Parts: sequence; C-alpha cells; structure tokens
Amino acid sequence: MSVFYTECIWFQPKIDLSPPLVPTLRRRDPAKLSLDRSVRSVSAPPLPYANGNSMATYSLTAIIVGGFPIGESDKVVSMFSSERGLVRAVAKGAKKPGTKMSGKAEALCVNKMLVAKGRSLDIITQAESVCTFRNLRADLVRLTHALYYAELTQAFGEGLEEESELFYQVLFNSLHMQEAAVADARLLSLEFEMFLLRQLGVSPELQVCIKCRRPLTEYNITVFFSELGGIGCDKCGRSSSTSGARVAERNFDAYDAEYEERGIFVTPLVWKMLVNADATCDELALPESLTRRRPAYTEAQSPALDAAHRLMQRNLESRAGKKMRTLDLLKQY
Ligand SMILES: [Zn+2]
Repeated sequence: MSVFYTECIWFQPKIDLSPPLVPTLRRRDPAKLSLDRSVRSVSAPPLPYANGNSMATYSLTAIIVGGFPIGESDKVVSMFSSERGLVRAVAKGAKKPGTKMSGKAEALCVNKMLVAKGRSLDIITQAESVCTFRNLRADLVRLTHALYYAELTQAFGEGLEEESELFYQVLFNSLHMQEAAVADARLLSLEFEMFLLRQLGVSPELQVCIKCRRPLTEYNITVFFSELGGIGCDKCGRSSSTSGARVAERNFDAYDAEYEERGIFVTPLVWKMLVNADATCDELALPESLTRRRPAYTEAQSPALDAAHRLMQRNLESRAGKKMRTLDLLKQY
C-alpha cells in the first residue's frame, strides 16, 4: 500500500495534532458499517492567546472540498473532516499567492489543522499539509472525477456526521485510487456513488423488482426508476415505458427530460456493473481496496460503464435536488 502514499508530503508536526492520518479499521458486518469509535480523538485543549484570554479550539484532519473568497485576501473553505464531518472555516491569507495558507486551502488538499471557534465563522489558526494529490492534478479526467467527489461531499456531507470517520477514509482512499489509476475513472466513481448512496440509506434496489418484488435476472430487467430507487422487471417496466427501446448506453443526455418520469432502460451489462459496484463499495474504507483488482472493460463495454456511473449520478442528483456540474467539464474535451 505504501506506493499510494509516496506522493504525500508529510511534514514533521510542530504541534501535536491527533488523530492519526489513517484511523484504525476493522472488518464488521458490511450491513452495519462503522469504524472503531475508540480511535476517535479528543479535541485539543484551548490554547492561551496573547490577550490572556483562551479561545476554544479544536483539531481536525480534513480534506478541502470547496471554498469561496471573502474580503481581499481570505477564503472560506468547506472541508470534510474525520472528526466532525463537514466543517466551514476561514483560511486567512488563502487568496494571496505565496502565503502559508494559499497552498493548503485548494480543493482536495488534506491538512491537519487547529481551528478556533468564532462568533459566526470558525478560523483556521494552524495547518499542516498531509497530502496534496500532486499527481492527480496532472490528469485532467481523474482530477475532474476527484472534484466530482468533492462536489458530492459538499452536497451530502451535512448528513454524514455520524459516520464522519468512515466517510473521510473512503473519500481519502477514493482520491488515492484515482491518483494511482487503479481502475477506469468511471468505475471508481461508480463505487464511490454506490458507497455514498448506502451511507445515505438509499442504496438502489438491484436484486428484486422495485414495484412487484419479483427477483431480477438479466432476462427480466427493464428500467431504473429514479424516484423509487431501483430497477423494475419486464412486466412493471413495460407498463411505464411507452416510447419504445431506449438504451441507457447511448445518448444518455437525451433521456434527461423523461428520466424522472419513466426511468431509463437498463441493459444486462449495466445491471451487472451496478450489482458488482454495490457488492464491493463496502470495502472502500479498507486498505485492501487500494490494491484490489477490478475488471478491465473493453472499448465495446465502455458505454455500459458510462451509463452505469451516470445512472447513479442522476440518482444522487435527484436526491440532492440539483445537478452535479463538475463532470460536465469533461464534455468540453
Ligand atoms: Zn415488477
């Protein structure tokens, strides 16, 4: 696994910031995913300040997932932390090139931080770079998929506080896997989407018909119903689908308008890809996931992979009530 961490820039900490970068993981019943609570850290004690007052602070290990400028030189960053889930805080001087904070407040940077409680917004008082994913930034396609993870995390992160340690680890591992190119970028995104849907408690129904509960096989699957969150059998799908054959593997965008209403036709290969990703997404938090062999899809199978991933993207978008725009960037190339 060390190969995946070689690009990480690790500075000797000047301050003792717990918890460890990679929390201890242990296997559990996949149906009840959770991390060992005993590794959860305790907030750092308040630090004395120059004016003699003490200010409440807390420590974080967090991945920057977004931000916007505030004032002339500062930024408000959104970050997903192992300890507190999604946190927003001011990064002073982050907008000015060359400042200590500017390189640490960029999207996907991982830092250990001390954050001071503020009246309206908390303020980052110290930050140490853990990892910048430098190689990921040199690959436009993979970087875009990684930024898509960040966009999803911003959209859904507030509902993930309870499992913040687990989600942080999965996000961290998923970024490493994109950087190390362990599999097709879309396959890795599909696994991440499946994991996120599971964490949100809305895993798609792929084993039995979402309407009549008949077991699904490659011979009786028809459409994916987004609002129901699952696939319909031939009987139930046919009654809802009236405009003839619509294949999810082609012209996906053309179906957007009628997607919510009628669902999208799912081919057996798309269905199998969804089933596989659903079965393996549990393992994303484990170190083994970084080196697990994944199927290599041929050129002919590529549209099916595209369709499976975008089907789950649409599923998440309908849950979020908005479009995820990051991956649209790839259409321009
Ligand atoms: Zn049915």
